[in-house]
Amino acid sequence: MFGPPGAGKGTHSELLVNKYQLTHISTGDLFRKNLGEGTPLGLKAKTFMDQGNLVPDEVVIGMVETAIKDAGHVKGIIFDGFPRTVAQAGKLDELLISLGHPVSGMVSLEVPDEELKNRLKLRAKTSGRVDDQDEDKINNRIKVYYAETQPVIDFYKTQEKYYPIHGVGKIEEIFGMICDTIDKL
Ligand code: AMP
Repeated sequence: MFGPPGAGKGTHSELLVNKYQLTHISTGDLFRKNLGEGTPLGLKAKTFMDQGNLVPDEVVIGMVETAIKDAGHVKGIIFDGFPRTVAQAGKLDELLISLGHPVSGMVSLEVPDEELKNRLKLRAKTSGRVDDQDEDKINNRIKVYYAETQPVIDFYKTQEKYYPIHGVGKIEEIFGMICDTIDKL
C-alpha cells in the first residue's frame, strides 16, 4: 500500500486486512510502538520521525525482516508505508524472492497535496502524532515523499506491478477500486 502521508494507506490497509485476512506490516506503526516502549530501535528512529524525515534504510529493513519472520506462515502480507526508498524496494524484493513469494503488486493512492495537508491537519486533532501537529513537519514529510519515495513508483512500473488508484472520494468507493485491483492480481 503506497502513497504520500495522508493518502489513506492506514485506513485502507485495515479494511484489506479484514476482508482478505492479511497480515499488516506498517513500518510507521512499528516505529511508534517501539518509541512508546522506549526500545533502542525506537530511540534510533525518534529524531528522524519527529522531524518528518525517513529513518535510515538499514534500520527499517532490519525491522521489516524481523516482522516478516515473526509473522510466520500467513495468507499474505500487506506492507503499509514500506518500501519508502528505492533501496528498501530492492531489499524487499531480495527478501521476498528468497522466501519464494515476490511482491504481487503496488497499490498507489494518489491524492493532491492540498487535500493531503487538509487531511493531516484534521488528523492532528485525534492522532496524537507529533509529526501531524506542526505545519512545517507536514510540509517536510510531503517534500521527503517527492524526493525519496516517489521514485519507488518507477521501480514497480518497470516490473509491471504499479496500480494507481484515485484516492479522493468516499472511502467505500476507493476501497471498492482497491479490491477490484487486488482481485485481479
Ligand atoms: P507513517 O506512519 O507511515 O506516516 O510513518 C511515520 C514516520 O515513520 C515517517 O515519517 C518516518 O519518519 C518513519 N517511517 C515509517 N516508515 C518508514 C520507512 N519505510 N522508511 C523510513 N522511515 C519510515
